[in-house]
Amino acid sequence: MFLADYHTHSAFSSDGRDGMPELLAAAARAGLDELCVTDHCDMGDAVFPAAERVRAFEETRAQNETGVRLLLGIELGEGIHNKPLAEKRAAGQPYDFVIGSHHALREEKDFYYTRYTSEAQCRSLLARYFAELAELAEWGCFDVLGHIAYPLRYMRRDGFMLDLLPRYEAELRELFGLLARSGRGIELNTKEPVPMTDILSLFRECGGEVVTAGSDAHSAAGVGNGVAEGLEICREAGFRTIAAFEQRRVRFENI
Ligand SMILES: [Zn+2]
Ligand SMILES: [Zn+2]
Repeated sequence: MFLADYHTHSAFSSDGRDGMPELLAAAARAGLDELCVTDHCDMGDAVFPAAERVRAFEETRAQNETGVRLLLGIELGEGIHNKPLAEKRAAGQPYDFVIGSHHALREEKDFYYTRYTSEAQCRSLLARYFAELAELAEWGCFDVLGHIAYPLRYMRRDGFMLDLLPRYEAELRELFGLLARSGRGIELNTKEPVPMTDILSLFRECGGEVVTAGSDAHSAAGVGNGVAEGLEICREAGFRTIAAFEQRRVRFENI
């Protein structure tokens, strides 16, 4: 079975711990076929060490004897908050794969740093979240939309056990239609706090084909976590393939 982790962070992410060689060794131990390193490239960061990072990647790839195929991606955060900069950064290096993620709304901090004190507050933020995700999907400049349920991680942390379905079905249909029509996809982020089978089924119903699986590991210890189980969820949702990328071109592997 094809096993790949398409969402991992190295020490080039401010919250990442290990270098690319350590991540690669962990991927080999986890029995992965492919590892894509997708460090944060947020629009709020004044600098992004793109060239230095590509050098580290090439060095690691040149010394790679694990048999795991190593790929280089980025997790482009909040691209619509500064589209010219995001487009420049995404096109600035020969990346294999770009995740489009949304960790913060305009004029707000990262969902992680917000304290949630009422359901009304959560609902109001989620309405704005879906509006910005639709804008992100219309803009493009990424291959898959990252961790759709990101705000719910932290709303749940503060005691508000919200779900995306059934309440946000209309918003998800609009979003998934936009993504499917442009050939882009979503990821099964194995840290997602909500059941993903129904969400993936809905994506498929909206014409979506491209799904990647990623652990969102921030250290070598987390590489590959939940990915095999994620493929099982994809199968339950009716998918027979999982997406893989090279130089921003998609191919499909049977699962
Ligand atoms: Zn993220
Ligand atoms: Zn991430």
